[in-house]
Amino acid sequence: MVKLMETWGDLAGKLAAAGVRIEIPKFIGWGSWGLDTLGGWYPETGRLYVSEQIAHVPLLVRDVMTHEITHQIQYAISPDGSGGTGINGGPHGDLFRSCATRVAGVLGCPSPVEALICGWPHEQRPDGFFGPGVVRKETA
Ligand SMILES: [Zn+2]
Repeated sequence: MVKLMETWGDLAGKLAAAGVRIEIPKFIGWGSWGLDTLGGWYPETGRLYVSEQIAHVPLLVRDVMTHEITHQIQYAISPDGSGGTGINGGPHGDLFRSCATRVAGVLGCPSPVEALICGWPHEQRPDGFFGPGVVRKETA
């Protein structure tokens, strides 16, 4: 089982060293949704969740945490998470994409592709990246 706080601290530490500062969430924990939702950042309460269903896959937890940290950065810039015209200018719009591009550069993740932005970076990883037995979800 991955230690979520350590994963967050490692990622945030690398970002801080590159000049991207992030506030420590008020709470970091496992969420109990189905596999359709792998993580969540709730700016109004300062709570960050990663789905307990992926707790046994450390690299996937790390990628989902990377996505949620990017939402943290985005909401710190714009309280409604918007500020862009891309995918509806909403939570995965232009502002998120520009934050994701910066985070990718610091952490060495794939640069975000717009069509896969809701699942960046994990959906842009090659087959087998997360280890044997972790298969890509069929997308509609
Ligand atoms: Zn997201």
